[in-house]
Amino acid sequence: MIHPENDPQYKGLAVNQGIAPPPAINPYPREKRKRLVYTPSEYVEGILKGSITVLSQAVTLVESQKYEHQQLAQEIIEKCLPYSGNSVRIGITGVPGAGKSTSIDAFGMYLIKDCRKKLAVLAIDPSSERSKGSILGDKTRMEDLSREQNAFIRPSPSAGSLGGVARKTRETIILCEAAGFDTIFVETVGVGQSETAVHSMVDFFLLIQLAGTGDELQGIKRGIMEMADGIIVNKADGSNIEKAGLAASQFRNALHLFPMPQSGWNPKVLTYSGYCRTGIKEIWDMVFEYMDFVKSNGYFQFKRNDQSRYWMYETINEYLKSNFYNNPAVEKELKIKELQVLNSRVSSFVAAKEMIELWSGSFQNDAEARV
Ligand code: GDP
Repeated sequence: MIHPENDPQYKGLAVNQGIAPPPAINPYPREKRKRLVYTPSEYVEGILKGSITVLSQAVTLVESQKYEHQQLAQEIIEKCLPYSGNSVRIGITGVPGAGKSTSIDAFGMYLIKDCRKKLAVLAIDPSSERSKGSILGDKTRMEDLSREQNAFIRPSPSAGSLGGVARKTRETIILCEAAGFDTIFVETVGVGQSETAVHSMVDFFLLIQLAGTGDELQGIKRGIMEMADGIIVNKADGSNIEKAGLAASQFRNALHLFPMPQSGWNPKVLTYSGYCRTGIKEIWDMVFEYMDFVKSNGYFQFKRNDQSRYWMYETINEYLKSNFYNNPAVEKELKIKELQVLNSRVSSFVAAKEMIELWSGSFQNDAEARV
């Protein structure tokens, strides 16, 4: 018997006549559109008109490490400042998996559709420097919002220290407010120090918790609970409703142990489901009630002033630090001094003092050179 492949009739391996391959280089290239470069006034004008394209480009300048971009960004921020401040700024935190993105999607849609708000979602994620790119505030995590015209979503700036990242987010808030966004979310992961930074730039701090896990297991530090103006227990749906209710009463009890916040507001605990979108209205009624409360007792303005002061000192500290470590004389001497400390030839304090003297001395040398 003959094997089918050896049969002359067999066509399986026959090569059919093909067509000529297309050229490797596209003969019809489209002209690459040049990115428009705006003057500072054009940036400001575009932002004030609510142009998302211009706003996004301005935020990119804020986030840039380049000196000339920073100069330009500062000029834009300065000009936008008089148009900022008219928003409700809300910090949202919770451990990974608590349902932040699902909730932000649900909250955002409620605020845009039912309350006619314009929402900007920003994020602070200092870990993003290590992971090269932040997932917080990422559009793909908020499906409905990402299609909304009245929503602006921006992931965390990724470069720099926590202080630097937070400052950029704070500056972005100013630009978003000038562009007409009246509600600002600042999202962060509730496990580190970034909450303190977020707390220093928002009016209301919302903590997302889960039922069924001990407080320790959720990794939420006591200090973060103390900062919260509202605790919301997510995933109160299906068979989890009862557990969520129980967790809520436990959180209420825990809050009683904390001293009364400076605002005079008793933090509330609510349950909801971000996924089923239930209990959302109650959360926002609470936030709006808080805003009325702190606006009438003066705490709102007091806190914003306090935050401005905090950011002035933060910026000075950041500047001094980066100026010190980038100073050529310091850079040259620092490792040598470190070795001397490690070899016990000089104490840490003396070494630090000498380094600072070297740094401040370099200004005098500069000044003398200029005379
Ligand atoms: P994030 O890491 O805090 O941003 O959390 P995600 O929003 O990504 O949610 C983590 C997981 O929890 C996802 O699988 C969600 O579908 C789920 N989830 C979020 N909200 C709810 C909710 O209200 N109910 C239930 N049952 N699951 C939820």
